[in-house]
Amino acid sequence: MISRIDLRGAAFPEGGIDRDLLPRAEFDVEAALDAVRPICEDVRHRGTAAVIDYGERFDGVRLERLRVPAQALADALARLDPEVRAALEESIRRARVVHRDQRRTDTTTQVVPGGTVTERWVPVQRVGLYVPGGLAAYASSVVMNVVPAQEAGVEGIAVSSPPQKDDGGLPAAPVLAACALLGVDEVYAAGGAQAIAMFAYGTDECRAVNLVTGPGNIYVASAKRLLKGRIGIDAEAGPTEIAVLADASAEPGFVAADLVSQAEHDTLAAAVLVTTSAELADAVDKELEVQVAAARHRERITAALSGRQSATVLVDTLEQGLEVVDAYAAEHLEIQTQDAAAVAARVRNAGAVFVGPHAPVSLGDYCAGSNHVLPTGGCACHSSGLSVQSFLRGIHVVDYSREALAEVAHHVVALANAEDLPAHGSAVTARFGGAGAAQRGG
Ligand code: NAD
Repeated sequence: MISRIDLRGAAFPEGGIDRDLLPRAEFDVEAALDAVRPICEDVRHRGTAAVIDYGERFDGVRLERLRVPAQALADALARLDPEVRAALEESIRRARVVHRDQRRTDTTTQVVPGGTVTERWVPVQRVGLYVPGGLAAYASSVVMNVVPAQEAGVEGIAVSSPPQKDDGGLPAAPVLAACALLGVDEVYAAGGAQAIAMFAYGTDECRAVNLVTGPGNIYVASAKRLLKGRIGIDAEAGPTEIAVLADASAEPGFVAADLVSQAEHDTLAAAVLVTTSAELADAVDKELEVQVAAARHRERITAALSGRQSATVLVDTLEQGLEVVDAYAAEHLEIQTQDAAAVAARVRNAGAVFVGPHAPVSLGDYCAGSNHVLPTGGCACHSSGLSVQSFLRGIHVVDYSREALAEVAHHVVALANAEDLPAHGSAVTARFGGAGAAQRGG
């Protein structure tokens, strides 16, 4: 079911392994741009009417309006299964503890007497949080988006999630209930690229936002890439990926269960096992046969595991295994080896690392306290998962006295002249009766 890439005996060049040797998706974020560009343009020009049309086309529901009424949020919370409510509350509690610790304090540096630079952390004013809801309804993604935004102090929080045929065109009831639990009352029934465009351009119903965050399928990730600049975005958090770095000590049943758990998200989800043990690889293959056959979403899982984006990679040493997982830069990376913590400490590229046999990715999906909105598609080599930091901007506040400016004025003038930007120098000398002052007649 899952293909094999045998790198045993292969050369591992000094500058890093060739990414073309690794599993990769056939349909990627770049390819989906062609599909989402006209959708975004249409929403830009026709606003709500276009969002409603795409909701009908892709989600099979024709809506009158997109904003979810306050009563629907309250009703969803009242009807929420008590067991699910307790689990959501625990998920929120743990996420809050972790994200509260991420809050930043302003730092003031005295550069010279009378001259300070302060980095002041200011929350983004208005954010649009995307909560997926195509193949599954992700109440957990409400928690993962909203908690860091709230802990950062964001004032304007809007959530959007696809309308559901079975829920009368509203987003899934657990998604609405999670919004109500978190005190979010601006919620829209819009999915995919049209939701991201609604946030970016604004409509008569939804005011434009400054930043869009949240996970989603390939169309959501692609729309975020397209509209980046007009809006800020978090990392591209597209179809889920799991990589497991394992040696012969790993439990094949655990490894297979974790690969299956992430393949369950999407036919485009990627599951990659990197191992030094051919015996483990064989045992995992056998486990996969059994576990996939028994899985509720076996068709989706089979498509994900047999796609080009998934594979078992055989290597000679853990050293090489680390090179492979660093080159792959997975959204989720599990270390199931002896001395897993020491191996995990050497990982350089991953959205999140799960250490040892008792930290499955599913724990992080819901209740570890960590965030599950993580970079995919190799973006983990340059971007981080969602955190309080994602919702803050650091503003440099420069405060110099006349004396402190005077002390450095000749350096500013020298650098300005070297760049042939003399007006820059004049702006300083003007304060001391120089050229700028002369231009004013001062
Ligand atoms: P989704 O809400 O992301 O996407 C559903 C929307 O996709 C629909 O509303 C529709 O508008 C749009 N769409 C569907 N087919 C389309 C087409 N042919 N052309 C244009 N638009 C189309 O929900 P989903 O599909 O269930 O996907 C959720 C995704 O989120 C999964 O891939 C999952 O792996 C991923 N995820 C990622 C993370 C992360 O942090 N990286 C976390 C959770 C979930």
